[in-house]
Amino acid sequence: MSTGSGNRANPAQREYCDCGFPVASLVSWTENNPGRRFERCKFYSGNPHDGLGCRYWRWVDEGNVRWQRDLCNHLLAENKALKKEVSNLKEKLDSMEVDNVFWAKQASESKVKLGFTNGPKLGGAKFMFYLLVAVILGGVIVRILG
Ligand SMILES: [Zn+2]
Repeated sequence: MSTGSGNRANPAQREYCDCGFPVASLVSWTENNPGRRFERCKFYSGNPHDGLGCRYWRWVDEGNVRWQRDLCNHLLAENKALKKEVSNLKEKLDSMEVDNVFWAKQASESKVKLGFTNGPKLGGAKFMFYLLVAVILGGVIVRILG
């Protein structure tokens, strides 16, 4: 197994560290190294003073040149803004769907109250029939009482 000197342009990634633990392949998303691959021992410790863990850590990719770094950071910021916009639009859409369900229920209940349960034309005819019956009954009641 190669120990990986880190001097080659793009050395092969390692599976295991010299300490015996597997090596993890990772990607940096810091502003200085966006998208740059690196690897480190899974037993790695970032604290040199704790006396724990392994010290193996190295870049896999060469460093970004300035224009690549600026472009990556610009695209990352744009991606973040677009994700936020999509999230906001989804929230608005969810809210509109809730409103839509509410108003559909209101419309349905209004139709039931007015007797338009079987479509506007038939419901309208039913409504007129019941209105006529009510007027006739009202007239009969007025005659009986009067
Ligand atoms: Zn190690």
